[in-house]
Amino acid sequence: MTKLKYFQNYPATIKDQVLSLIESGKLKSYLKNKYPNPHHINSDKLLYQYANDLKKQYMRNTPQISKVLYEKQKDLINNALGTHSFVSRNHGGKLKSKHEIRIAMFLKEAPEEMLEMLVVHELAHFKEKDHNKAFYKLCQYMQPDYHQVEFDLRLYLVLLDQGESLFNN
Ligand SMILES: [Zn+2]
Repeated sequence: MTKLKYFQNYPATIKDQVLSLIESGKLKSYLKNKYPNPHHINSDKLLYQYANDLKKQYMRNTPQISKVLYEKQKDLINNALGTHSFVSRNHGGKLKSKHEIRIAMFLKEAPEEMLEMLVVHELAHFKEKDHNKAFYKLCQYMQPDYHQVEFDLRLYLVLLDQGESLFNN
C-alpha cells in the first residue's frame, strides 16, 4: 500500500489511523494546525548557524561541524527516517567527512520542528553511529518531542507525495 510506505514498520492500529487521516482529506489541516509556521532558515549559511547553535547548546564536546548544507538527494529522506546505517560514502574517490551535515532540500519548505528533528538526528550521529537506544536518548535530549515530530514528518512526506505543500498554497 503506497499510501503507507512511510509507515511500514508501525503496528496495524497506527496504520489504520494514518490511513483514515489520509482518506478523510484532513491531513493538511492536521499538519497545518500543529505546525502553523514555516521557518526562515533558507540558505546553507543560516542552516550552518542553526546547526552550530544546537550543537553548542547540547553537544559541546564533539568535533566541529565542517559543513552544513541543503542537498537534493532522495536517500536523505530514508536517512531521516532512520533506515540507514552509518557508512562513509565514497564521492568521486574522496571519502566524505563525517562531520558534514546534509539536509534534504524539501526541508527548506518544512515546519521548523521537522528541520530541527533532522538536524538533531544528524548531530546525534556525531556521538552514536547506530540507531540504538543511546542514539534516540540523545535525540530526545535535544528535542523532547523528537519521536512525535519524526512521525509527523512521515505524514508530511505523504502530503508532499500528493503534490501538496503546507505553506505555499
Ligand atoms: Zn541516522
